[in-house]
Amino acid sequence: MLTLLKNAQLYSPSPKGKMDLLIANGKIAEIAPHIELKSNQALFSTLDLAGAILAPGFVDALVHFTGGGGEGGFAYRTAELSFDEAAPTGVTTLVGALGTDSVTRSPAQVLGKARELTAQGLSCYCYTGSYHLPVKTITGSIEQDIVLIPEMIGVGEIAIADHRASQASVQAFIEVVAEARVAGLLAGKKGISFFHVGDGKGKLSMLREIIAQSDLSITQLYPTHCNRNQALFNDALAFLNEGGAIDFTTSTIPQFIEEGEVSCPQALKTILDKGLAWQRVSFSSDANASLPLFNSEGELVGMQAGKLESLYEAARQAVQGYDVPLEVALSVISANPAKILGLTNKGKLAKGFDADMVVLAPDTLEIKQVIAKGQSIWAK
Ligand code: ZN
Repeated sequence: MLTLLKNAQLYSPSPKGKMDLLIANGKIAEIAPHIELKSNQALFSTLDLAGAILAPGFVDALVHFTGGGGEGGFAYRTAELSFDEAAPTGVTTLVGALGTDSVTRSPAQVLGKARELTAQGLSCYCYTGSYHLPVKTITGSIEQDIVLIPEMIGVGEIAIADHRASQASVQAFIEVVAEARVAGLLAGKKGISFFHVGDGKGKLSMLREIIAQSDLSITQLYPTHCNRNQALFNDALAFLNEGGAIDFTTSTIPQFIEEGEVSCPQALKTILDKGLAWQRVSFSSDANASLPLFNSEGELVGMQAGKLESLYEAARQAVQGYDVPLEVALSVISANPAKILGLTNKGKLAKGFDADMVVLAPDTLEIKQVIAKGQSIWAK
């Protein structure tokens, strides 16, 4: 089946001007200023985008699609993500992870949910492992999970600098990162190690220790929640300067901002103003995680859940409220995370890539349609 999209204002995420785009069997077959199909009209469908923006489907490096939590007891377990909730958000590639709870939730559940959402039309991957060391796996080892299970692209989210972390030694973390790295080599994957960074005093120092005390490369490490307070944000900018990739969390609540969280649009604007490598910066939603509120005594005082739609909302706000160029705002939710994670068919509108794309209104940047693997999965 062929689908021809005509008259798009194409962002690959780089701006490419007015283009037509041909989809064949779920892949992008051609992008050119004018594509005319001479074959029988019955063999293909045409959609005139009339100057609407066509952007890559969004890539979200952290989604708790089996639900996360509950750090306030069982009443605080958050819900699973459904396809119907996900489709309108423009996120077409999701990477699932466990959260704090790796006892009543498991890597097998994360894998099962990834397969469910993929069967419904999205593209899902997952991290093996858990917050704590020794990590939970499906087959018994990180290495076997990544080598033998197609959806497993790395290990995570492993907690550091957090009262909920396992407080393990540098050597223990080195062994985890090394195992994921070797497994990635064997399986033709990146084998990334994805780290949850809490508001502990160590900030990103554990990641620097891993690099200093081993032969591992900084490119194997991917820390998230780097905007949770100003001190961690500053340390993350230093880590970016050292050659690392950093991720910011878009799900938030007003109290987090009042307490010093750096909003994602503000974080991206700061990186551009400082001339730092925004190509190694990404946003992720932390969707369906619990967002726990602790008081100064470390007691839980409230709970909300992360939202998948916050991913694009933060990018859109960066453009509309912070003068961030659209190509940069789109890159942090498409090409950048895809590259950091080693998802070679995702995050770009280019020949041979998966036909995941989002149609945006040029004036309001509102999402009008979502196409995943060549199929329209949602339209306004
Ligand atoms: Zn986390």
